[in-house]
Amino acid sequence: MVLASNRVIMPWWDTDAVMYHSVVSTASRYGPNAKACVSLPLHEDRDLLQIPPWLLSELFLLLVTAVATHLAVSFAQTIFHYTLGHHRIGGQLFRNHINFHHTYYSKDHLVSPKYLAEEGNNTPFFLIPVVLLGACFYLLLPTSLFVMHVFVCAASFYVHVLFDKEYHVENSWLQRFAWFRTKQELHFVHHRHANKNFGVVHFFWDRMLGTYRRPDAGQIKPLAVMYQPDASL
Ligand SMILES: [Zn+2]
Ligand SMILES: [Zn+2]
Repeated sequence: MVLASNRVIMPWWDTDAVMYHSVVSTASRYGPNAKACVSLPLHEDRDLLQIPPWLLSELFLLLVTAVATHLAVSFAQTIFHYTLGHHRIGGQLFRNHINFHHTYYSKDHLVSPKYLAEEGNNTPFFLIPVVLLGACFYLLLPTSLFVMHVFVCAASFYVHVLFDKEYHVENSWLQRFAWFRTKQELHFVHHRHANKNFGVVHFFWDRMLGTYRRPDAGQIKPLAVMYQPDASL
């Protein structure tokens, strides 16, 4: 407690222990003219540390929206890869995926100095359902949640495209991470066994769908032989 001229300044942690009238009576001990007052700036500091309940619930909803959006994008990628990329019902998407991605990268040719996707790149097609889904959520979600949904949709889509690319790039900067090398091997399993591991970022979807396969023994560590285009072509 600080006595400044005839005013008693009490920091907020003292006022926690006593009611306001106690503060006044305490102040009176310093003289008839002493007035109790609470240091307002300190009070404001304490208020700033307390997160209002409405903000907590808003942050919780934003977190739920972010996690749900990422999981939805990841699950959609796995299902589209399985149904459209590996079954004739996918039409051109199926032909592109098999004739290009699985032909560029197959068996022992799983990495290349540069990612090979000049032809048969299906990525732009998958923007269509993402945009349609976003339009639906524009009608359903309040603005703050919709902004989070759009942001996470774009980020999640980008991460899926990035991982699919970096899995096949020789000496990718992501290979310094053990978790990435694990995912890369799981994706290589897909190129060796085309009916397994349709996930790109998360492979727990394959566990749920019964399409999960762990890397074969002996294929976990060594990187596959670099893809070398046939010079005779
Ligand atoms: Zn595939
Ligand atoms: Zn691949």
